[in-house]
Amino acid sequence: MTDLNELDFEGYKSGYVALVGKPNVGKSTLLNHYVGQKIAAVSYKPQTTRRRQLGILTTDEAQIIFIDTPGLHTGGYKLSDFINEEARYALMDADLLLFIVDSSQFPDAEDRQLAEEIIQSADHTPKLLVMNKVDLADPNTIDQHQAAYLDLLEFTDAIRITALTAGGRDALLARIIELLPEGPKYYPDGQITATYEREIAEDLIRAAALHHLHDEVPYGVFVQVNDYRLREENLRYIHATLFVERESQKGIVIGKRGSMIKDISTMARQEIEAMSGEKVFLELQVKVEKNWRNNPELLRRYGLSHD
Ligand code: GDP
Ligand code: MG
Repeated sequence: MTDLNELDFEGYKSGYVALVGKPNVGKSTLLNHYVGQKIAAVSYKPQTTRRRQLGILTTDEAQIIFIDTPGLHTGGYKLSDFINEEARYALMDADLLLFIVDSSQFPDAEDRQLAEEIIQSADHTPKLLVMNKVDLADPNTIDQHQAAYLDLLEFTDAIRITALTAGGRDALLARIIELLPEGPKYYPDGQITATYEREIAEDLIRAAALHHLHDEVPYGVFVQVNDYRLREENLRYIHATLFVERESQKGIVIGKRGSMIKDISTMARQEIEAMSGEKVFLELQVKVEKNWRNNPELLRRYGLSHD
């Protein structure tokens, strides 16, 4: 086997960049911007991104493979064991770790817990503190916030951005490339994501459901794509099931004369079309599956468990 270190990549940089941060700090927003496609579901609700996702950005200087971690959370459900494990793998794989925080606030218990997780899993990985949502931060307190975040880990460097608009995103990209090791192009040009599109479709359907349901079915929707195939040239047929925990929730998801499921379906279809560039025919079905979040058998069946 050839040692990669002995090869000359003529200054080309490549590697894995883990986006780590608690829910809602803007990880998916940033990833979507760099990768230029809606591959990580962006939502105002936390926990939309449940699986590790890869977005690949290839430039003349570098190939950056972003890992959008699902983020840690502390609920007592079995599903959160999986989420935590996925996040841990992303940390261990990374060449560079971006710790993304909300610069308008001081670190809280969740930030501290994440920092501890990073120390355990990625103590020696190069790290950069990304102070996001600068547009929402008070200029009088942001320095104190930054000092408190820097204190959490042995950061030497911080950068301030507004992921939602253009502010600082180019500067951040330049810093990322600087910090990456030299290496080859691991993926062909133009490859945007290594995640299966059908998994992304699941994420987008779930995001559409959460968007329309507000707080009526809190985290109670689980999506499984059963069928994802080209029916004719440029027409993708997708059949998916939305699982809820209770009969009463099923009624809410379907809505009056099917109005809610229709809204969810329309939004999800548009998002999937934007992601895949294909015309999509989407069929959604709602099923009750009691306690799916605590059912190890169910989690395994849907690929959400590692054992
Ligand atoms: P994630 O859970 O960390 O992936 O966060 P998302 O990317 O889904 O973003 C959560 C919410 O914050 C969304 O409503 C975004 O539009 C919003 N957001 C992301 N970046 C910024 C920012 O720089 N400024 C402001 N004001 N909102 C942002
Ligand atoms: Mg996200």
